[in-house]
Amino acid sequence: MRELVRKNILGITAYVAGKPIEETRRQLGLRDVIKLASNENPLGVSPKAVKAIRKEASGVNRYPDAQSFYLKKKLARLLNIAPANLVLGNGSDELIDVIIKTLVEDDENIITADTTFLEYGIVAAVNNREVRRVPLRYFKYDLESIKRKIDRKTKLIFIANPNNPTGTYVTRFELNDFIRELPDNIILVMDEAYDAFIDVDDFPRAQDYFKNKNVIILKTFSKAYGLAGIRLGYAIADTELASYMERVRQPFNINSLAQAGALAALEDKEFLRKTRSMVLEGKNYLYDNLKKLGLAYVPSVANFILVDVGRDSVEFFTKMLKFGVIVRDMKQYGLKNFIRVTIGTKKENERFIRVLKKILRGKEKT
Ligand SMILES: *Cc1c(COP(=O)(O)O)cnc(C)c1O
Repeated sequence: MRELVRKNILGITAYVAGKPIEETRRQLGLRDVIKLASNENPLGVSPKAVKAIRKEASGVNRYPDAQSFYLKKKLARLLNIAPANLVLGNGSDELIDVIIKTLVEDDENIITADTTFLEYGIVAAVNNREVRRVPLRYFKYDLESIKRKIDRKTKLIFIANPNNPTGTYVTRFELNDFIRELPDNIILVMDEAYDAFIDVDDFPRAQDYFKNKNVIILKTFSKAYGLAGIRLGYAIADTELASYMERVRQPFNINSLAQAGALAALEDKEFLRKTRSMVLEGKNYLYDNLKKLGLAYVPSVANFILVDVGRDSVEFFTKMLKFGVIVRDMKQYGLKNFIRVTIGTKKENERFIRVLKKILRGKEKT
C-alpha cells in the first residue's frame, strides 16, 4: 500500500488528541474522571445553545445553509465588520487548511514557531508545503528571528496569540513593529483561540490590522464558548481574500446544529462572563499551589498552564491518569519534562493539586 500513498503523507505523525474521559473510564475502570487536557470549557455549554441545538435537531434532513447567513450577519455585527470579511470553518482547524490551500504555491514556505499549535505543521505537511520552525525565546514567539527567516518564497506566517502550549503572548508593541516591516506579499495569520481569557493591557487587537494589511485572524467557538464538539471557527480577512477562501472550503462545512448553537451562544454573555472569572480565579489558585510545591510554570494569559514537572512528561501523565486526572503530556511538542493543564472548575483544580502532591511525594497508584 505504501507505494500508492503520496510521499509527503508517509512521514506525517497524526495529531494526538487529549485523552477522552469515556476512554479513560473504560480502560482504567475508573468512575470519576476529570479532563484537563484540551483547554475545553469545564462549565459545559451555554443552556441557550443547548436549547437551540435541540430545536434544530428535527431539521437535519435538510442540508445546512451553505452561506451561514444569520450566523455571519450576527458575528459581523458583533465584530463591527462586514459579513463578507468572514469565512467560517469546521473548527479553526479547517481554516488552517483552507488558508494554506488558498495561498501557498508548491515551492513556497510557511513560517511558524517550533513549539506551537501542532496543526499548522500537520496541515502543511498534508498539503506538501515546507514549514520553517523558529525556536521560541523564553517560551515566547521570537518575532525578530521569524523576520530573519523570511525569504522570497515565504508566503504565510502562523502566530498563535496567545501561544498554545505555552500561554505566552506577543505584545501590541512587538506586533506593531513586526507588521510594519512585513513584506506585502506575505500573509500573517493571527490565531486567537484564547482571546476571551486575556487579562493583560498590552495584548494586541489583531482586528485593527486586517483592513490595510495582509492579516487574517482566526477565532474559535471551541474554548470559551464551550462548543468544541460542534466544530466551529471563523477567519476575519479582507473581503477579496475571504472570497478566495470561500471557493476552497467545503460547501456545507458548517452543519445546521453548529449554526443554531453558535447563534444562541453569542447571545449568552453571562455564560462567557462566568467562564472568564472561573478561569482567572482558577489560574491564581493553581499558581499559588504550584509555587508552594516548588514547581516552575510559564505564566499564562490563556486557560491552561505549562508546568515543569522536572521528570518524564509521559510517565507523569500516566501517573495522574491512574488517579482519574487527564492532563496533556508535552512529548509531541518536544517539551519532555512538561505537562499542560487546563484550568478547570474550583473542584477540578483542587483535585489536580491533590493528585499532584501525591505523585510528588511518591505515592503512586499501580
Ligand atoms: C484549540 C485551538 C484552536 C481551535 O481549534 P478548533 O478547530 O476551532 O477546535 C485553534 N488554535 C489553537 C492555537 C488552539 O489551541
